[in-house]
Amino acid sequence: MKRHYNFSAGPATLPTEVMQQAADEMLDWHGSGMSVMEMSHRGKEFMSIYHDALQDLRDLMNIPSNYKILFMQGGAIAENAIIPMNLVGMKPQPATADYIHTGHWSGRSILDARKYCKVNIAATAETSHYTHVPARDTWKLSTDAAYVHICTNETIGGVEYHFTPDVGDVPLVADMSSQILSREVDVSRFGVIYGGAQKNIGPAGVTIVVVREDLLGHALPICPSAFDWKVVAENDSMFNTPPTYSIYIAGLVFKWLKRQGGVPAIEKVNIAKAALLYDYLDSTEFYRNPVAKDCRSRMNVPFSLHKESLNELFLDGAKERGLVQLKGHSSVGGMRASIYNAMPIEGVRALVDYMRDFEKQHG
Ligand code: PMP
Repeated sequence: MKRHYNFSAGPATLPTEVMQQAADEMLDWHGSGMSVMEMSHRGKEFMSIYHDALQDLRDLMNIPSNYKILFMQGGAIAENAIIPMNLVGMKPQPATADYIHTGHWSGRSILDARKYCKVNIAATAETSHYTHVPARDTWKLSTDAAYVHICTNETIGGVEYHFTPDVGDVPLVADMSSQILSREVDVSRFGVIYGGAQKNIGPAGVTIVVVREDLLGHALPICPSAFDWKVVAENDSMFNTPPTYSIYIAGLVFKWLKRQGGVPAIEKVNIAKAALLYDYLDSTEFYRNPVAKDCRSRMNVPFSLHKESLNELFLDGAKERGLVQLKGHSSVGGMRASIYNAMPIEGVRALVDYMRDFEKQHG
């Protein structure tokens, strides 16, 4: 058995230790005589898995006690609609929500929000072709917004917020799908944090929502019960059958992350990994990353080869060395290396070594 260094943007590589433990426990979880997949979500075995996962995530992110953690379904894309359905009811209708447009994923959030409220694009990175985060002092926020929405890491564009914007008393809502648990974040600065699990947390299927308690209970009448955060919270994320296996693996990843020293420790590794790759990219004309230096993502590093005709050769050669899923998103082309928590620094070194060798051969 050989595991490749897998640079997929998501579903993404998971810690080998976690995969091994899941394999060992597959048929018989802790002497229960069943797989986690086969357990009632209300039984004591699964309840212990659920409560551990909840507490470990709370510890890892230092989530204050006045925030609920919800395990939902539908991914960040469903949440893009669930957010306005839960929040615009705090204001007289039709309400306004402020959005910051920094790339593909915040763009997708805007499209769904428009079905439920007036969207004010308070700032956009369109002029730079979405290669920067507009400075906070350029944002034109509304006076009466129900919330301000940001995507803290644009997974396709490779653009990341390296600051938490101050938006006063208006709830700040953040799509952290590809940033969550990669760096320290002061949760108390946010009203809502959400993201799909399939990057830094576990397999696809579970959506993490961290929501401040005072933001519960404002859902529009059209909001489906299963998407009403208050209903979900009151039912311990079990109003409908939760994605039990995804929650179990997420729980194993949380324990793995604690063993690594938690978020502060992994953040240091993530900084070192990103520096390795960006320092090399900046040292050559052969490859290029288009993002403004102070907005570059630590998690997703898009780059292009100066000759597009070499793309296939580059990918084939990478695969021969066990470096896989480097092809960029179809909307932008080129390459993308996603280097989430579970990507060891050795994987990034192997990638940079390969890129250097490829340049020598074809430069
Ligand atoms: N937001 C961001 C930042 C993402 O990276 C993704 C997935 N790549 C999504 C939203 C969509 O997530 P999902 O497919 O889980 O709904």
